[in-house]
This record gives sequence, C-alpha cells and structure tokens, in this order.
Amino acid sequence: MNPARGSLLAIEHLEAAEILKILKFARGMNPDKPRPLLKGRRVLLLFYEASTRTRSSFEIAAKSLGAHTVLIQSTGSSIEKGESLLDTGYTVRALGADVIVIRHPNAGAPYVMAQHIDVPIVNAGDGLHEHPSQALLDAYTILRNKKSFKGLQVAIVGDIFHSRVARSACHLLSKFGVKIILCGPPELAPEIATTLAPGVRIARHIEDALRGTDVLMLLRVQTERLAGLKINLSEYVARYQMTAARLKMAKKDCIVMHPGPIIRGLELTSEVADGLQARILEEVRDGVPVRMAILARAMGKMR
Ligand code: ASP
Repeated sequence: MNPARGSLLAIEHLEAAEILKILKFARGMNPDKPRPLLKGRRVLLLFYEASTRTRSSFEIAAKSLGAHTVLIQSTGSSIEKGESLLDTGYTVRALGADVIVIRHPNAGAPYVMAQHIDVPIVNAGDGLHEHPSQALLDAYTILRNKKSFKGLQVAIVGDIFHSRVARSACHLLSKFGVKIILCGPPELAPEIATTLAPGVRIARHIEDALRGTDVLMLLRVQTERLAGLKINLSEYVARYQMTAARLKMAKKDCIVMHPGPIIRGLELTSEVADGLQARILEEVRDGVPVRMAILARAMGKMR
C-alpha cells in the first residue's frame, strides 16, 4: 500500500515547494486563535520513546485545530505486553484514528505503518533516521530570524552521527542551497556525513565551523555515548562546548539553536543558553504552529 496522502515520513523526499507551502501555512496558524480545521477528528499519538517537546506540541497543535487526541505510550499500554507495531497500528485504526503521529526507536517504523494502515502517518522521530517536524520548525525559526535561506551558512555542532535532527536538517537546508558545516570529533561527525546532502562539509575545529556562520545548531551529546566511544568528556568540552567567547567567532547576528533537551555545562554554557543570541525556546514555541500545519496537511486542510 502507498502511504496515505498527507503522510509526513521524511524530509529527504519532500519537494522544496511543498516545504515552503507548509512553512507558509504555519505562519497563519496560532494556538491562541484556535481554528476548527480538524473539528471532531481523532489524532493518535503513538510514542514508543520518551518525548517532552514533540509530544506536547503535537498535542497542543491538534487541540488548537479542534481535534481529539489520544496518547499511547509504550509503558502502560499493550506494547509493554509485546504487541507488535502493526497490531497496535490496526488497533488504533479500529478505534477511529484519523491520523497517527508516531515516534519509534527503529528507523523506518513510520514507513511500515504507512504501508499497512490507510490513514496519514506523521513521523515524530524514527531511530537515527529522521525527525521531519523538527526540521520544519527549525526552518521556520531560521526564516523568522533571517528572512531567507539565500547565502546562509549553518553550522551543526555535536553528536551528528546519532542525530535524526541533524539528518533531517541537512536534507531540508540543502534543498535551499544553504552551506552546511558539521563539526565534532570524527566519531560523532564522520566524513561519510558529507554524502548526506549537497553542500555539506566537515570542520574539525570549532573556529572553522563558526567563521562566517549565521545559524549555529547545537545537538544533544549523551555522556554514555561519549564513554562508549572512548571520547574524553573534558576533552569534548574543551574542544567543542559553545561558550560566549567562541560564539563571538561567528557572525555578529548569529543565532543559536538546539532541539532540546539541552545539557548545560556540556554542549553549551548557561551564558550561551540564556544569552541574547539563543533561540532555543523560540524553537519550542514555533513547534506548535508548524505542527498545526503538518496536521492540517495530513487531513487535506492545507489550502
Ligand atoms: N529531541 C530530539 C529528538 O528526539 C533531539 C534529541 O533528543 O537529541 O531527536
């Protein structure tokens, strides 16, 4: 079965024009001025992994459009009893789901759902693969701050290898000709990452990544991953942590983004996290109108 119309499975195969259409529609969405575009519809949120921002903003988005939401998490549901992904999918379909938003630790899980279940499927993060709604909201935040993608340079610093956020961002930004610089130690920012999308290159030194940069995207770095890869924590901090002094190497009006959760003292200092250039909470806020647009599109209401 082909994915139902309105599904959002990945950024990689989404056309630039469609991305701009979603972003434009999102500009007209405001959770403080609810619009009943999805009145009476059921949005099923199927979360097999922890989530704070993504889950709650999809929920607020759905409710702002007049939909009912049902949250199913792996703990406290039949998933815990060993029910398969598809059986859970058939069950929520039988319950009358009009759209399924799914987060899963395995790459491709939303595709499996979309091949078997005839309702739009929205990927809320699948393993190391993609996080399309995050890339769209990041693009929305970038455009609100920079007006256009033209001539932009974006540096992505941190654990790129394990980041679906980085993967989706590279796919999206490269469609608009943005220069993308990935920066981190080779274990976290491997050379192969340059093949992700056109216009992607690697910098090993933070100064090389920051010079001329308009947008800095920091990523979560998990200490247990550093330990597993035998990367010394203090060495990581010494070489890559974003400090106010380092941020000065970027363009004066460079904005700092992070998908969250942020780890102060590791990826960035509090001075940067709470500084004037930080847009981290703005991204969280932007998640709602963008996800309203994604859900409206899923239901064929994006006109
Ligand atoms: N919240 C983002 C995600 O789910 C980023 C992260 O957790 O590192 O992928």
